[in-house]
Amino acid sequence: MKRKSAKVVGIDLAGSEKRATGFCLLERNQAEVSVLHTDEEILRAVGKGVQAAAIDAPLSLPRGRCCLRDDCPCAGKAHFRVCDLELRAMKIKFFPITLGPMRQLTVRGLRLKEKLESRGIEVFETYPGAAQDIWGIPRQKNPQGLKRGLSRFKVGGSWLSPNVTKDELDALTCALVARDYLRGNTMAIGDPEEGLMVLPDLGSRTGERGPRKKPGG
Ligand SMILES: [Zn+2]
Repeated sequence: MKRKSAKVVGIDLAGSEKRATGFCLLERNQAEVSVLHTDEEILRAVGKGVQAAAIDAPLSLPRGRCCLRDDCPCAGKAHFRVCDLELRAMKIKFFPITLGPMRQLTVRGLRLKEKLESRGIEVFETYPGAAQDIWGIPRQKNPQGLKRGLSRFKVGGSWLSPNVTKDELDALTCALVARDYLRGNTMAIGDPEEGLMVLPDLGSRTGERGPRKKPGG
């Protein structure tokens, strides 16, 4: 199926509704970004006609875990998912999902995924830091560098504003991964039975930074 005018969203989800969530709606090379807070705001901003949503939040639990609580018998059983171990093998830095603040984020992400899927949207986990590493562009700790790196995708819209936040830049990164996903230019890492993470194909470098090792290389 050809999807000429794909409409996708990228969400740099915060663990709490009190903190800023970066949001990006990408359609026809126009990226509209915003900073949102509540789940209700996010669902409203997604609107209609969106085909895929890429979320920067863990959307699965490590095998053997039924939850991420400390007081459950499953605690201490597993801290990493297969996709996390594959990131580590690629020498990509990330936070383990059993780490305190990540737990709240995981619970929120799973709730949001369910709501979006009920609207017929394909929802998957991505990780903007890894996507930026694969593309060879700076991460959000260097927002100006990241903005320059993202400009290579030739996308217009409100993200070009000088006031764009790093959360919005990560949301745009997620949206670009969602668009690549619909175009078949992504790879999925991890165990499908456990949970996959979608990342740009390793061949999709756009940047000028040093080479990165391929997994298993
Ligand atoms: Zn449990």
